[in-house]
Amino acid sequence: MARYTGSSCRLCRREGCKLFLKGDRCLSSKCAITTREKSLAPGQHGADRKKIGEYGMQLREKQKAKRFYGVPEKQFHTYFNIADKKEGMSGENLLSLLERRLDNVVYRMGMAESRKEARQLVRHNHFRLNGKKANIPSIILNVGDEITVNENSKSSEKIKGLIESMQTKLTPKWLEVDKTNAVAKVAAIPARDDVDFPFEEQLIVELYSK
Ligand code: SF4
Repeated sequence: MARYTGSSCRLCRREGCKLFLKGDRCLSSKCAITTREKSLAPGQHGADRKKIGEYGMQLREKQKAKRFYGVPEKQFHTYFNIADKKEGMSGENLLSLLERRLDNVVYRMGMAESRKEARQLVRHNHFRLNGKKANIPSIILNVGDEITVNENSKSSEKIKGLIESMQTKLTPKWLEVDKTNAVAKVAAIPARDDVDFPFEEQLIVELYSK
């Protein structure tokens, strides 16, 4: 299925919560979800949001996670199948996989304002993984993997600006980040409390277990 190319804010309005898809704007008063009128679900019947049942809640939680990480449906389901086969809680395994996607790691190391921007930077060959070219956003990283900025990209004004702005950003404890050289190493598998969004992942597990 084609990737969604419409308004990011519309996705937040659909889910009825902030999905932080637009960087700094999400923290400003311009955020569409902070004004009551605009936070209604999109469309003509947005104001008539009905109470949803069990299936609806499970579906919405899955959509929320998919949209938060910017993952297409088929790929998301594949991640779930992998997570379900691993030892431990399927929901937590799923979130751990999503956190370790290359585009998410680039975002979490502070090199992008949003996951969408991180995805574009990866596709445009600005990073190397363990010294090798890496332009596939969905690559899953493991402990010990290291991301560096491509030497050729370091002269770009955009990349210089991103490296400068990463200096003030907070990074998760499962990533060892050398901000001076813009290098990040996966120090540990991210745990449930490393995920900075209150997902109810059990609902996603229930949805896929039907
Ligand atoms: Fe969502 Fe607000 Fe960010 Fe728009 S600005 S993407 S509504 S969090």
